[in-house]
Amino acid sequence: MTGSGKTEVYLQACAQVLEREADGQILVLVPEINLTPQLEGNIRARFPGVMLATLHSSLSEGERMLHWLAAHQGRARIILGTRLSILASLPNLKLIVIDEEHDPSYKQQEGLRYSARDLAVWRARQLAIPIVLGSATPSLESWHHAGSGRYRKLELRERAVKDAVLPRVRLLDMERDKPKDGLTSHLVAALRQRMERGEQSLLFLNRRGYAPVISCDACGWVSDCTRCTSFMVLHKPEHRLRCHHCSLEMRIPRHCPTCGNVDLQPLGRGTQRVEEGLQQLFPEARILRIDADSTRRKGSAQAAFDTVHRGEVDILIGTQMVAKGHDFKKLTLVGILNPDTALFSQDYRASERLFAQLMQVAGRAGRAARNEGGSVSEVLVQTRYATHPLYAALVSHDYDRFANRELEDRRGAALPPYMYQALLRAEARELAIAIAFLEAARDCLAHEGITINDPIPMTMTRVHNVDRAQLLVESPSRPALQAFLKQWIVALREMKSRVKWSLEVDPLDI
Ligand SMILES: [Zn+2]
Ligand SMILES: [Zn+2]
Repeated sequence: MTGSGKTEVYLQACAQVLEREADGQILVLVPEINLTPQLEGNIRARFPGVMLATLHSSLSEGERMLHWLAAHQGRARIILGTRLSILASLPNLKLIVIDEEHDPSYKQQEGLRYSARDLAVWRARQLAIPIVLGSATPSLESWHHAGSGRYRKLELRERAVKDAVLPRVRLLDMERDKPKDGLTSHLVAALRQRMERGEQSLLFLNRRGYAPVISCDACGWVSDCTRCTSFMVLHKPEHRLRCHHCSLEMRIPRHCPTCGNVDLQPLGRGTQRVEEGLQQLFPEARILRIDADSTRRKGSAQAAFDTVHRGEVDILIGTQMVAKGHDFKKLTLVGILNPDTALFSQDYRASERLFAQLMQVAGRAGRAARNEGGSVSEVLVQTRYATHPLYAALVSHDYDRFANRELEDRRGAALPPYMYQALLRAEARELAIAIAFLEAARDCLAHEGITINDPIPMTMTRVHNVDRAQLLVESPSRPALQAFLKQWIVALREMKSRVKWSLEVDPLDI
C-alpha cells in the first residue's frame, strides 16, 4: 500500500545485515537520481558511522571513480544508486534492495540494453543472498512470480502513520462537465477550496510544452517534424517549435508555410498552457511548473522541490517528474489531466504503466494524516471514460484486482509474462532497406518452437531522418528462446549488412 513505510523495512533489513556480517555490503537501487538525496538522508541518519557510496550519472567522473573504488575495495558498506550501480564491483555483497521495482527507468533502452532489476535478481541468485523488490504497484512480471511462489510475497496492508487514510479518488466525467482551458468546473472549485484553506494542490499532466502541435484551419497544415514521424511541439515562453525526438528547433512561423494564413492555432494542451490558464484563473496564486523544460539547469529541480516543501507554492503543475517519491506534507489535492490516451494505446503495457503512474501520483496527496480541518485528501481524475475498469480499480485502490485482470488478459493473448520475447530492430536511410534486412534475418535460421513474426515499421517510423523497423521473436520457453538467440546473433553478424541493428531480450516498448 502507498505510504505503508517500505523504506523502514529496507532500513531494518540493512541494519540486520550490517550487524550480522562484519564486512557485508548492501546495494540499494532507486529508479531516478531525483530520489537519491531523500533516501541518502534517511540512510545517513539511521547509520551515522557507516560508509555510504552513491553511484549515478550526475556525479563527476572523479567522484564516480572514488565511490566506485570504495565499493570495489569493500570500504563502502552501503551503495546507493541508479540502474548503472548494478554493474558495480561489490566483493562482499550480502543484500540487494530495489525500490519501486516496477519502474521502467531500471531498463537501459540504448546501447547495452539491460534491466537492472532482472540483473539484480540474477546476481542475488548467483550469490545466494536475499533481494527485496519493493513497490505499491509491482510489475506484472514480479506479481506473477509472487503468485506462482517463485518469489515470496510480503504485504504491507496498512499505512505507516497511525490514522492516516488513503486519499479519496474521484472521477470527473468530462462528457458531463465540459472542461474550459483544460479544467472542469469541479476541479476549479476544488483548487479554489485549497487556496482558501492555505493547502497545496498538484496538477499532473504528462505532456510538456505549450501545445503538442500547431495547425492552420484554412488549409489543414500541421507542424510536422521534417526529420521524424512526429510533430513539432509549441514552446510558447521560448517562442520556439521543438521536436522532442530529434531536438530540431525553429521559430514559431508568423504565417502558414503552405497558404500564408496568419491565424495559426495551438492544438491540445501541455504543461505551459495549463500554467497560463491557471495564471488567468487564479491571478493571486503562487504557481510553479516542474518539468524537463523548467529544470534544465543543474540543481534547479531540487531547488524547485524545496520551494514546494517550504510551502511557497499554492499550485504545482508537473509531469512524471513530480509523481515519484516526494512527500509533500501540505498537499491535499491532486488533479490528473488527460490520462485517457494510454487506455487505447497499441502498446499492451500502456495500461500497466498508467495504473502505476496514477497510483504513484495519487500517493503524493495526504501522505501524513488527515489535514488539520479533518478532511480527507482528494485525487480528481478528469476522464471521458469514467466507466473504464482501470479507473474503477484506481478509485478503490485495488491493485490486486487490476493486476489479476491484466494477467488474465495477458494469458489469454499469450503475452509476457506468459510468453518470452526478443526484438530485433533495424535502422536505415530507407524503410525498405530495414525491412529487407529483417526479412533476411527472419529466414536465415531454422527455428523450431520459436515464433518469428513479420517485420513491421516501428510506430514512430522515422526519427532524425532514419527509418526504423522491427521483428518480434517469441517463445513460451525461455531456454528455447535463449538457445535460438545464441545461434541467431552469430548468423546476424555474418550477414554483413550496413543496416544498424540491435537485439533486445524482454523488450519494454514494442
Ligand atoms: Zn494554411
Ligand atoms: Zn524530429
